[in-house]
Amino acid sequence: AAKAEGRNRYQFYRPELTAAALDRSRMVRLLRRALAEGELSLAYQMKLSCSDARTPAGAEALLRWHSAELGAVPPGRFISVAEESGLIVELGAWVLEQACQQLVRWDSEGLPVPHVSVNVSVRQLERGDFVDHVRAVLQRSGLAPGRLELEITESVIMKTDNALEALAALDCLGVRLSVDDFGTGYSSLAYLKQMPIETLKIDRSFVSGIGEQQGDEAIIRTVIALARSLGLSTVAEGVETQAQLDFLRREGCEQVQGFLLSRPLAEAPFGELWRVSLAVSTPPGP
Ligand code: C2E
Ligand code: MG
Ligand code: MG
Ligand code: MG
Repeated sequence: AAKAEGRNRYQFYRPELTAAALDRSRMVRLLRRALAEGELSLAYQMKLSCSDARTPAGAEALLRWHSAELGAVPPGRFISVAEESGLIVELGAWVLEQACQQLVRWDSEGLPVPHVSVNVSVRQLERGDFVDHVRAVLQRSGLAPGRLELEITESVIMKTDNALEALAALDCLGVRLSVDDFGTGYSSLAYLKQMPIETLKIDRSFVSGIGEQQGDEAIIRTVIALARSLGLSTVAEGVETQAQLDFLRREGCEQVQGFLLSRPLAEAPFGELWRVSLAVSTPPGP
């Protein structure tokens, strides 16, 4: 009791902390309701082949929250709150289900998006039932496992006990795995070598340094060389300028994603964009 009181008093003397804590608990409360109230949606950002920057290759699903009370809340603000509260497990399950269903729906509309990437949080990965859950979602939706890619941030892989085990089981299942925000964590290369991953996603912070920071350019070259020697593919995220795209193409990066090519879009405009992109990238048949 004394401890609790001490904590209260501490907060009393630090009004800004109280405000932040209240903010977070309010956000958790609103976020918990968001799912039931239909305030969540997915945006899809196109990935394109870097060689011509025209051929669409896939999509990354990104969670969007439009709160009746808070307005549009960016993932940068609510994902960490969802992770701390554990709500991310429920939200992540919803994202996975929606993304898989959407791909199947696009198939049936004659819009074959080859694969969808879904971001996975450490809190999901460390649960013993995650692999079973992924398997169940794939079965329910009827999506071929190879068309689902899970993006896992580098720091998460390093921090999670049994991560390797879970990744191996996911690999067995046939889903693809990529390391998100690569270069911002602290992967040991020996560890990376053991992981059943297919792709390294070069973090936006390096891409934004192209043409400005020789260090960033050197890092990108090194990551591409590393990926190549380990038999992995590379995707650069956050491509905003033609100069960045030219550099990445020259260096042999395989896929690109960024505002220069497309913003994340709701499913209908994404479908439209995909149709148009396919039409311009594929020459008309005989
Ligand atoms: P991320 O997975 O690295 O996703 C890429 C982020 O970069 C997205 O931000 C995307 O909108 C943004 N982006 C893409 N191209 C550009 C560009 O050219 N310039 C700039 N400035 N930004 C670009 P978003 O949607 O705000 O998501 C932020 C982060 O939130 C994601 O980073 C991911 O870590 C997390 N997140 C989003 N959706 C989910 C989800 O469903 N589950 C989990 N666990 N995390 C998610
Ligand atoms: Mg991602
Ligand atoms: Mg990323
Ligand atoms: Mg990132």
